[in-house]
Amino acid sequence: MSKTLTATMRAVAVTPKQPGSARQVELPVPTATRDTAVMRVLEVGIDGTDTEINSGLYGEAPPGFDFLVIGHEALSVVEAVGEGVSGFIPGDLVVSTVRRPDDCTNCRAGESDMCLFGQYTERGIKGAHGYMGEYYGETPAFMVKIPPDLRPFAVLLEPLSIVEKVTYQAWKIQERMLWEPKRAVVLGAGSIGILGTILLRLRGLEVHVYAKSPADTLQGRILTSLGASYQGVADHPVTGIKDELGQIDFILEATGSSEVAFQVMAQLGTNGVLCLTGVSAGNRSIEIPADVINLQMVLGNRLAFGSVNANRRYFEMGVQHFQQAERQWPGLFERLITRRVPFDDFMSALDRRPEDIKTLLTIAAE
Ligand code: BGC
Ligand code: ZN
Repeated sequence: MSKTLTATMRAVAVTPKQPGSARQVELPVPTATRDTAVMRVLEVGIDGTDTEINSGLYGEAPPGFDFLVIGHEALSVVEAVGEGVSGFIPGDLVVSTVRRPDDCTNCRAGESDMCLFGQYTERGIKGAHGYMGEYYGETPAFMVKIPPDLRPFAVLLEPLSIVEKVTYQAWKIQERMLWEPKRAVVLGAGSIGILGTILLRLRGLEVHVYAKSPADTLQGRILTSLGASYQGVADHPVTGIKDELGQIDFILEATGSSEVAFQVMAQLGTNGVLCLTGVSAGNRSIEIPADVINLQMVLGNRLAFGSVNANRRYFEMGVQHFQQAERQWPGLFERLITRRVPFDDFMSALDRRPEDIKTLLTIAAE
């Protein structure tokens, strides 16, 4: 609020579709208008989407810009609010949702994650600047208030919202029958795989995680502490999972490999549901056992569905589950934050290492 209109701030931006173009840019500090608030960013989580945008695979600049400020997982503090803003005051902790609606009926109903027209924007990804800067302007409809006790790990709310949507929708879809799921498989031990495992364990399922990295890693130790099993695909190939485990009721695909997505379809148990969350930007073709998969899908009432993004109600579910999971496994979420990188080293934050679970770019100390 001490800032004037001419004050500038720093942010991290890319030139979309230009590999390795991440750089620091200067932008005017936003000011609060009547119905908007200004957020001061504390920290920003980095995920595969950010890395892929910086590899030039996708990303779209906002109208009138040739660069895109990246970052879509941010924990911020309300710096200022316009006089028309209610429900938030300076000092409140906030995580913003990612997608901004277009005019379709789903978007108008608050479900832009189920958008029909595809004209939505996504902050930090598609046609709207993201949160990897010192401040951003926001409207209350997209601000989710964070209870202060969640401060140490609330930056994980955006990735958590993704698996909130997945599990909510899977259970909703399965209302098509009497469904008493007991066993789940999760593919991938990145943040989506681990956060998904947490929600499945909270639902009381037996969870088996299959991933690339060997069991003797932090990922493996965290998953074991949740009561999940953890197998490396080098010794336990995806094609052998159902022989190893028996009936599988739910599968969460979180590797981003389309090959794994189709391989695992044949591992699903009777009446089972497979959820695909990986965004694969490539253009590869693979051979699949189409007759076998088709027959199994039909004879076993199996279902595969895709899920993207999350609207604010899934963020709100995430706030509840943060609290519930922390009661059950104190300190769990902080263990997922494996690197904190100061702003000046943003290049190193964007560079993903095998031992990373969640890397944060620290923007402000408090
Ligand atoms: C984000 C989603 C987004 C998706 C596709 C993911 O990384 O978490 O909010 O919808 O990318 O752009
Ligand atoms: Zn829409």
